[in-house]
Amino acid sequence: MQHNFDTIVRDGLQNQTATPCYIVSESLLKKNLELLRRVSDASGCKILLAQKAFSMYSFYPLIGAYLDGVTASGLYEARLGYEELCAGAVTDITGVQKRCENHVFSPAYPEAHMEELLQICDHIVFNSFAQWRKYRDRALAAGKECGIRINPECSTQEHAIYDPCAPGSRLGVTAADFEEDALEGISGLHFHCLCEQDADALEQTVEAVERRFGKYLYKMKWLNFGGGHHITREGYDVDRLIRLIRRIREKYDLTVYLEPGEAVALNAGFLVTEVLELVQNGTVTNVILDTSAACHMPDVLEMPYRPPLYGSGEAGEKPYTYRLGGPTCLAGDIIGDYSFDHELKPGERLVFGDMAIYSMVKNNTFNGMPLPDIAALDESGALKTVKHFGYEDFKGRL
Ligand SMILES: *Cc1c(COP(=O)(O)O)cnc(C)c1O
Repeated sequence: MQHNFDTIVRDGLQNQTATPCYIVSESLLKKNLELLRRVSDASGCKILLAQKAFSMYSFYPLIGAYLDGVTASGLYEARLGYEELCAGAVTDITGVQKRCENHVFSPAYPEAHMEELLQICDHIVFNSFAQWRKYRDRALAAGKECGIRINPECSTQEHAIYDPCAPGSRLGVTAADFEEDALEGISGLHFHCLCEQDADALEQTVEAVERRFGKYLYKMKWLNFGGGHHITREGYDVDRLIRLIRRIREKYDLTVYLEPGEAVALNAGFLVTEVLELVQNGTVTNVILDTSAACHMPDVLEMPYRPPLYGSGEAGEKPYTYRLGGPTCLAGDIIGDYSFDHELKPGERLVFGDMAIYSMVKNNTFNGMPLPDIAALDESGALKTVKHFGYEDFKGRL
């Protein structure tokens, strides 16, 4: 069964969930995973879930059946990936048992985290040669695959906040600072420079990597292309990606990794919310929802972007235009201006799309806001609440 706004709206609006509530659709997630699997099968690369975008671990067994493992930004994500996927028996979609890889990258590892990371991770990527020297002997003694994150100094996007290649960046070693004589024990290089981009930007980036670091690649076992590949977005040039990976694999005789976060759960999630109240101010009709941009969808403010909303249009497009905002004290807690065919009333439910990635992982309880429940819509159409939050989740963090 294909899930779209219609089935989510039917299930979400018929009061089957409390609000606010995230709903992630198994069938939409699977659709993304099938495409990612096509990429790895056709190109021979390995693909990992970047957990920082999507850590709804009840879906990890499904994700693990299609992908090669998970990657983490530090100890807690690494432990989650280990506990919920890699430590257990992972069954591939072909039905065979397989190995699951647990990778980690952090700009700097706290001393207190390293012992556990060495027990649960397969790949450890270091952000500097200082970090590599600090942990080198222990990592090699534990038999880990160790890598260095490089900075190819090739900006292909305009969002400075998401550009690790911006001047003065703290992320990755530049060619000028690369220590060729400290490479013994390093088995791979890692770069991550993209954000929601297509294969042409990746191609440009890989060319910069070859230009600046190509001579080291012949000695490496693997090269990790990082994340930011918008592979599951309509119109992404999948064939170009596959050609590029094949070329690099063959030229340098190494394993290529991709670690998308966003692409894994793109458009697979929804957020169901209720209209609490309407507040008129001059020509603007504000709608106060029981969900908050600041607490439940911070990327709406940070990126910024305007999430899709079922049955709505741009401001002025339909007869009734509203400014949708959260119940927090932050004046700018505004999701956007949307128009509707009918007048909105308190008690009515609305459904936002694009709410799986960088949403629940970024939740906070500013203003004592309740956290949205998390629900899964399985392939048969059954809706199951995976997680319910309450007052204790607010108090427990303070
Ligand atoms: C953020 C990040 C990813 C995932 O990025 P997406 O844009 O979600 O695909 C992968 N690797 C690293 C090192 C990252 O920082």
